[in-house]
Amino acid sequence: MTRTTSKKLFDRACKVIPGGVNSPVRAYGSVNLDPPFIIRGRGSKIYDVDGNEYIDYVGSWGPMILGHAHPSVVEAIRDRVARGASFGAPTILEIEMAELLCDALPSIEMVRMVNSGTEATMSAIRLARGYTQRKKIVKFAGCYHGHVDSLLVEAGSGATTLGVPDSAGVPDEFTRNTLSAIFNDLDSIDTLIDNCGTEIAAIIVEPVAGNMGTIPPQPGFLEGLRERCTKHGIVLIFDEVMTGFRVAYGGAQTLYNIKPDLTCLGKIVGGGMPVGAFGGKRDIMEHLAPLGGVYQAGTLSGNPLAMAAGIVTLRTLKNENPYPELEKNAAYLGDGIDALFSEYKVPHVCNRVGSMLCTYFTATPVNNYSNAQTSDCERFAKYFASMLEQGIYLAPSQFEAGFVSAAHSPDDLDRTLAAVKVALEAI
Ligand SMILES: *Cc1c(COP(=O)(O)O)cnc(C)c1O
Repeated sequence: MTRTTSKKLFDRACKVIPGGVNSPVRAYGSVNLDPPFIIRGRGSKIYDVDGNEYIDYVGSWGPMILGHAHPSVVEAIRDRVARGASFGAPTILEIEMAELLCDALPSIEMVRMVNSGTEATMSAIRLARGYTQRKKIVKFAGCYHGHVDSLLVEAGSGATTLGVPDSAGVPDEFTRNTLSAIFNDLDSIDTLIDNCGTEIAAIIVEPVAGNMGTIPPQPGFLEGLRERCTKHGIVLIFDEVMTGFRVAYGGAQTLYNIKPDLTCLGKIVGGGMPVGAFGGKRDIMEHLAPLGGVYQAGTLSGNPLAMAAGIVTLRTLKNENPYPELEKNAAYLGDGIDALFSEYKVPHVCNRVGSMLCTYFTATPVNNYSNAQTSDCERFAKYFASMLEQGIYLAPSQFEAGFVSAAHSPDDLDRTLAAVKVALEAI
């Protein structure tokens, strides 16, 4: 497989775009390669500018659960754009989207649309602080909630320590009120609550952690968070930007039957267009401007193109209910990978929730961020390179989830498993 055109384009991109990319992980830095430039996609496949075909398990980092260029989504966008892309005025589409979200997610009574997952978490945090009149927030090590200043706190500092910013350009004053806890560890939360429970506005969590691979919540973890938040007047925020409409139509909160106070959404909700949303209990949401004192706004929020793509995606998911099939296919793939790694005696852990999965190059069970960090990333990079060479497009990092879409066929899965075998022979 050659990628000479991609290589030329990457060199050209690097002259005018920092690192050649508009989001860092696309640069393939952690696998020491140059990225293919993608020219089109259809169903489970994407194609690069050199004419190579790949079976895609990135799915634009989550949104493409129906596969690429799904005919209904293409038609909905085409139909809308011809009637005007944006008005900055109310449209029926916004009501239809809000009704779909309130209907799908048991905890959402009202919802506001934004343009990215980052905006959703940023706004939900501000709302929780305005509502509780408290300053501190708690996040979990290894959970990613977009590039909000106060949420760019590394996890490595461990529970009970005050947040240290992860990025240059974030003054430590901005993360002073961010506390870090350990995923799947209620003791780390209890310590924080004992120290300053009455100052905590919100606990924000990915109910299935998808930005340190794939880590399911252990039994009792989400329930424990719910109990503690209720007891101490803390707003529980589920960041379901990745898990919403992914692990179940109604998200992780439906799968695990836990009602958060606020929920953040994005990715699938936009059907491939830029989108985010946050919603929850009516009495909290009514604190938002123009009803309440918490300011939040957006020129393109709820724009017709994103709403049209999102609505048709959600309706298709509701009507066709691909979730049992996704579960079956992802289990087939995950179990197949697990068996091959065992056969080749490569230390590994396969974690999976529905159609989200991750194979870690470690023998340590992965239940939190420090467990995940025991992975052999060099070995992952070799595995990744072999898979890419064989036309299997995985996320270029050990710490990302892979996604099976409704467009993946049994043949795609078998071809992927055949490639895994070759990759394991090579490493
Ligand atoms: C992708 C993601 C975000 C950020 O969404 P953007 O649209 O990239 O800003 C936030 N939270 C979670 C859990 C995500 O997976």
